[in-house]
This record gives sequence, C-alpha cells and structure tokens, in this order.
Amino acid sequence: MENTGKTKAKKQVLQSPKGMHDILPQDQPLWDRVYRIARDVSEYYNFKHIETPMVERSELFERSIGEATDIVEKQMFTFKTKSRESLTLRPEGTAGIARSYIQHGLGQLGLPLKLYSAGSMFRYEQPQAGRYREFHQIECDIISVESNPIYDAQAILVFCRILEVLKIKDLRVAVNSIGCKSCRPVYRKKLQAYYKSHKRALCAHCVSRLDKNPLRLLDCKEEKCRALREDAPIMIDNLCKVCREHFKHVLEYLDELELPYMLDHYLVRGLDYYTKTVFEIFTGEETVNALGGGGRYDYLIEMLGGKITPAVGWAMGVERVIEHIKTQGINIGIRAKKKIFIIYIGELAKKKALGLIEELRKNNIDVDESLGRESLNAQLRIADKSGAPLALIFGQKEAFEESIIIRDLATGIQETVPLEKMAASVKKKLKNKG
Ligand code: AMP
Repeated sequence: MENTGKTKAKKQVLQSPKGMHDILPQDQPLWDRVYRIARDVSEYYNFKHIETPMVERSELFERSIGEATDIVEKQMFTFKTKSRESLTLRPEGTAGIARSYIQHGLGQLGLPLKLYSAGSMFRYEQPQAGRYREFHQIECDIISVESNPIYDAQAILVFCRILEVLKIKDLRVAVNSIGCKSCRPVYRKKLQAYYKSHKRALCAHCVSRLDKNPLRLLDCKEEKCRALREDAPIMIDNLCKVCREHFKHVLEYLDELELPYMLDHYLVRGLDYYTKTVFEIFTGEETVNALGGGGRYDYLIEMLGGKITPAVGWAMGVERVIEHIKTQGINIGIRAKKKIFIIYIGELAKKKALGLIEELRKNNIDVDESLGRESLNAQLRIADKSGAPLALIFGQKEAFEESIIIRDLATGIQETVPLEKMAASVKKKLKNKG
C-alpha cells in the first residue's frame, strides 16, 4: 500500500532506567521536609554532616559487606573505567564512611564521632513495591572508643525520634544480637549442623547458601524454611559473656527510654560487617518492608585497614518513609510560601519588571511571574490560579508615573501606590491578610 505520509512512526518516549525514578517538583517539598527534620534531629544529638562519593572502588564493598552476601554476589552495579579500574555505585553508605574515616584520620575530631549522611544507593534488584534500583537513604553512625551499648540505644533513639517528628505512628523496633568474632563462629557451626540435618526440607536458595552464609537461612521467606527455623538454635542462647552483657544493657537502655522494641531471634541483616546488636524499624502491621535498619559494626574499620574502632549506625529508606507519609495522608507541616504575582502591560513595563522583582527580593517578598506572556488576561488568569493573595500590575502609565497597582486577588480591590512605597505597602497588605 502506498504510504500517504499520514501514518507517522510513533516516537518512542525515553524512560528512566528500570527501578530508578525522578523526584518531581511537586514532591520536592515533602522530600525537603523529611531531610530537614532528619538533619535537625540528628544535629541536636551532635551528628556532623559527611558526604562521600556515590562511586567507590569495588574492593571496598567486597571486603566489607562480604563476598557471600546477596548484595555483593548479585546486586552491585559494577563497571570498569577507561584505566581498567573496577568501580561500583554504592549499594549502601557505611563502607564509604568507614573508608573516609580511615583515609582522613577523622578520629582526630574526637570520639565519639557522630556522622550524618544522606544520598542515593544502588542495588540491582527486581523492582517491586518499596524496592528500587536507585533509592535514597539517610544514615547516622556513632564511632566511639569502646563498644558501648549506650550508643546502640542512642542510635535507635535518634531513628525513632526522627520518625516521631515525621508523625509516623505505631513504631516497632525489632532487635537481636548476632554475637561477635568469638561466639558467632560457634553458633554458625551449630546452625549449619541443624540445617544440614534437614537439608532436604530446604528451598534451593537456602541449600546454595548453607555453606557460605547459614545465618541468612533464618530470614528466608519460603514457607518450608520458615517452618524449619522454629526449632533452629537461636543466637541469643549462644552469646559469649561479653555479648550477652552488651545486649542486656542495650535492652535496659531501651526500656529506660520506653522505646517500643521486640526481640526478633531471626533478624540477621544481610551484611557481614555487623556484630552484636542488629535492628530494624517497622510501622503498623508491616513486617516485610522495614523503614530502616542498622546495627553495630565493631570490626568494619579494622577490616578496612584502620585501628580497631567500634561503631554503630543505621540507614533509613527515604522512599519507604515518603510512601508511608503519602499513603497515610500525614500532614508533616509543609507550608507553601506566600508569593505575590507581578504582571506587566507593554514593553516599557516589561523592561522594568525584572528590576522590580530585585527590589522585592531585597525586601524578602516572594514573587511569582509569567513575564513571557504578553496578554494581560493570560497573566491575570495564571495569577489567580497561583493562589497568590496579591498581584502587582505594572502598565505603561504606571511605568511613566513611577507607580504600581496593588490588586487584592480575592476581592478585586485595587490601589495605586508610588514605586518607592511598593515594598512597604505590599508588606502591610500581606500582614493584614494574616
Ligand atoms: P538495608 O541496610 O539493606 O536493610 O537498608 C536499610 C533500609 O534502606 C531498608 O530498611 C529500606 O528502608 C531501605 N532500602 C533498602 N533497599 C532498598 C531498595 N532496593 N529500595 C528501596 N529502599 C530500600
């Protein structure tokens, strides 16, 4: 058939990469507010801001997170640079912070050193609700001289306080201890022996990680593996004296603070560097998608070549927090700025309009405009839609006379004032409007 030219090839609209999202202008006030609250609360507890690169040497994650973990085995975005160096988009933030601590000798700032950070993380996962390939975390870490349980409790406290200020209700902190260098290997063997004796009842994934990472079998979501774990040995029955005392104190501090915790013997977390306390925070009935999690990592800095320096920290999933705030319709106090709208008529007024905005800026008056449109009606329509309480109308006559019209957009009442009184009159009118 002859091509009439009417059947145009459909233009393909480019999409963002799978599992990665834009944060659009309409959502930014909510994101800003969440970051602001997290910053304010953590600053109160003396956390200092740190930023590390989004990309690190791949070796950093292999050495810290552990080669037999899901993250390192399957989820890293790794690439070679032109000079054949292997780099990875960070899948989590703690390894980079520990690297930076060692590289810059941050211990000199004095211990405890409390660090706050925030940014994008990348994991090659199957995207689903609450799980993306690029997501954002807010992180708090406390690096101290000793492995002191008071900081495990304070870290959990700060996380809970941020969520409370964000008006997130029904918080539940799941806590467990996964022991240390001396007691965990013994427990690991016991657990392995238990599961090996039930190997045929395990799912294929658990069979494959039984040798390398048996602790992860405890948090398998498969029905048959869940049934098996009921009789599996649990870590807290196998803690050494030091770890038992540490965990006891953490729980005592949490009691003292009246934080809503519950013991979860199956909580192990997916990263090798954790020791002793691990925790995750949930809201309401949710049991799968945690708002965040963390734990103690006493050997991480040493594993990366630093002096033995204990630390504890957590990461909050910003997308999960934002989604919860949105679905629950929580009002976290976002107030749109009251702006006034500036309108011009004619070339001379247009030429002077940008200067008028500067005058208003100096007087801390927020201004909106649509200076690219010539028509008065079009500008007025946009001014009405913008929700601005006042419009400033600057026409040919006003430009000659050095005056301006202030129009109340709710009542339509107008007043002409000399330009030198513009800012003061606007302020007065805005004040009267409350
Ligand atoms: P993790 O240390 O892996 O438990 O991550 C801490 C928190 O980050 C989780 O509790 C989630 O809130 C969030 N998070 C982790 N992975 C993802 C992901 N793929 N997409 C969105 N949020 C995530």
